[in-house]
Amino acid sequence: MKRLSGIVPCYNEEENIVDFYQEFMKNEAFFKEKEIELELWYINDGSRDCTASEVKKLVQKDSRVHLLSFSRNFGKEAAIYAGMEKAKGDYVVFLDADLQDPPSLLPEMYRYLEQGYDSVATRRVTRKGEPPVRSFFARIFYRMMKKISKTEIMDGARDYRLMTRQVVDAILSMPEYNRFSKGIFGWVGFETKWLEFENIERKKGETKWSFWKLFLYSLDGVTAFSTAPLAFAAFMGVLFCLAAFALIIFTIVRKAIFGDPTSGWPSLVCIISLISGVQLFCLGIVGQYLAKTYMEVKRRPIYLVKEEI
Ligand code: UDP
Ligand code: MG
Repeated sequence: MKRLSGIVPCYNEEENIVDFYQEFMKNEAFFKEKEIELELWYINDGSRDCTASEVKKLVQKDSRVHLLSFSRNFGKEAAIYAGMEKAKGDYVVFLDADLQDPPSLLPEMYRYLEQGYDSVATRRVTRKGEPPVRSFFARIFYRMMKKISKTEIMDGARDYRLMTRQVVDAILSMPEYNRFSKGIFGWVGFETKWLEFENIERKKGETKWSFWKLFLYSLDGVTAFSTAPLAFAAFMGVLFCLAAFALIIFTIVRKAIFGDPTSGWPSLVCIISLISGVQLFCLGIVGQYLAKTYMEVKRRPIYLVKEEI
């Protein structure tokens, strides 16, 4: 008998635990026919509500359900990583607890694995129900990433993915601290089938991602999968050197031909503030990479476990 492990990161999702379980287990018959048993890992990412006790009730009723509680909120990326380490399945799938990743899609996804794909990924083609500002910046982010990163990062890609053990092991072999799964999935490669679906709004509770949190996450994505900003900093340096050089020539020639004394301190002030602004900006870019490197070098664990059932 083979096994399929569902990994569900949960952060304050008490209302969704049972609903999700029921939806997920609706696939039981389909997978039984294929001689695959289901297993479910709820990764409790430091929830402050009754998420843990809701899962414990399920664990008592059904031995296929497991709970892993973190010592605090480590973020969804850490939860996904922990789930992969714990899951025993020959196939692994990540799903959101809020049912925005419809478990009813699983049989279709599995059929593609049967056809020989290593992983089946999903993307939403619409963003209906999402604040327009958020969609706008998300679009810009994906368009920019396409240009500055060699790793394929699909617009609208969700973390909802079904993959074989081989792919899971490949991802686990990347123990980096700053995790950006959308990039990691692309980086490991393998034959991936993309399924598309319309955005589904969250069933209960509310989103855990504020605009600010998403913004920082997008910076993680950029620094983790592109060094283009560093090249940009170098490019700006060269550009300003050239401009300065041209200005020097211009000033010398003007002095030689017209005997003009160099005049005007307002222009000087403008130039100095512009250039120091650019310098600080570029220094900031370098600082971002340095900070990420610093965090990596510390080799802190990605998550800490409080309880495992
Ligand atoms: N999540 C998590 N840790 C966090 C934030 C979110 O484990 O720090 C989980 C959350 O419980 C949910 C999934 O990640 O199962 C997606 O979060 P959410 O639905 O809030 O994001 P959205 O769908 O709005 O992008
Ligand atoms: Mg959601």
